Amino acid sequence: MIQKPKGTFDILPEEIPYWQFIEQKARKVSRRFGFREIRTPVFEATELFQRGVGNTTDVVQKEMYTFEDRDGRSLTLRPEGTAGIARAIIENGKCGDAMPLKLFYFINCFRYEKPQAGRSREFWQFGTEMYGAETPEADAEVISLAHSLLKEIGLTEITLHINSIGCPNCRPTYRAALKSYFEANKEPLCDTCKGRLETNPMRILDCKSPICKEIAKNAPKTFEHLCADCSAHMDALCANLNALNIPYEIDPNIVRGLDYYTRTVFEFITPVIGAQSTVCGGGRYDGLVKEIGGPNLSGIGFAMGITRLILALEATGKLPATDYETDLYIASMGKDAAKAALTIAGAVRDADLRCESDLVSRSLKAQMKYADKKGARFTLILGDNELLSGKANLKNMKTSEQTEVDIRNIPALLSLIR
Ligand code: ATP
Ligand code: MG
Repeated sequence: MIQKPKGTFDILPEEIPYWQFIEQKARKVSRRFGFREIRTPVFEATELFQRGVGNTTDVVQKEMYTFEDRDGRSLTLRPEGTAGIARAIIENGKCGDAMPLKLFYFINCFRYEKPQAGRSREFWQFGTEMYGAETPEADAEVISLAHSLLKEIGLTEITLHINSIGCPNCRPTYRAALKSYFEANKEPLCDTCKGRLETNPMRILDCKSPICKEIAKNAPKTFEHLCADCSAHMDALCANLNALNIPYEIDPNIVRGLDYYTRTVFEFITPVIGAQSTVCGGGRYDGLVKEIGGPNLSGIGFAMGITRLILALEATGKLPATDYETDLYIASMGKDAAKAALTIAGAVRDADLRCESDLVSRSLKAQMKYADKKGARFTLILGDNELLSGKANLKNMKTSEQTEVDIRNIPALLSLIR
């Protein structure tokens, strides 16, 4: 028996309504804010992620699914959505469009990670990107979109954490301060963080190991090192969030896992799903478009992990009720009745109602059992007598009430089951 690859999952029909619920809400909320959908390839040139996500990140160093195609090109299954979208807007000449450019996506991503609850190797993200708006109002709008969506799906046990990681002007001094702090506390750090000390000390703040987390608590804080512009940006963002009535916490340990972030970074964190508690991560990435060969175009966005959203809704009893019912099941006995059932089913479906009939010539008893399993609201039984008389009994499965109907009078039948 061939099994699914480690770290992947099947989404079964009974779970699909939860996914569709979130997807529909995400589309609806995006639309309210003027964001439009974009779809890009599931694989890209490996170099795009090396440059766009950053060579010093865990994602690029350890987590990418990279392969050579038959022509020897190095390709990578997207580990995230932003780099591909930035490439797409440059390549399709969108950088000259009316700004800001507001985009959203719903995608599967691939990362070679240790699978656990809320962490898989193929996973799904809903995300947004806003290009060409550098103001703290743009930050607030993007955060507000995420906040509205979380509210709309009913996830109330959630906190917004924000931070600023500075810009290319002020980050070098912060980086130096961090480096000397961690140098002085180097011994207990995990091996990965010992390496990060040289390549990217800010990543240590993002380490999941409890010991590194403990040491990170007393590390220098970004906002002690921000330049005047970055400080003003952060203050204005806080004022905007207050104006929007969106509660937040300033959290100096939020640094985000990807290299391209500048200034604002944020996460929505929920206490209800255990260790993988970040359901949404985002921030500003003003250097990205230029980094991958485009103009100097600012950007800000976020990505939400759909599995984690579903886990959180499940944990708080907020998963939507699912609706698998069928409106009418037509049971039939004999070939002629089965054919008549097909005709009636066709007319019922044309009226946008859900209808099924017997397709496997089962006994009446077995057909009724199937109808019950499919949650049929009504059943109609057709046999030779019914075909001859043109009359059949329509049964309301909830009340057991039976009504005689004329099977040639479809509008009358429809009015009974609507
Ligand atoms: P984490 O710190 O949990 O590894 P990250 O910083 O790597 O997250 P991002 O790259 O910012 O995550 O992705 C945004 C969101 O996508 C995360 O907040 C999370 O909800 C979701 N996500 C990331 N990696 C995975 C994964 N392997 N499985 C499921 N969801 C994921
Ligand atoms: Mg990660």
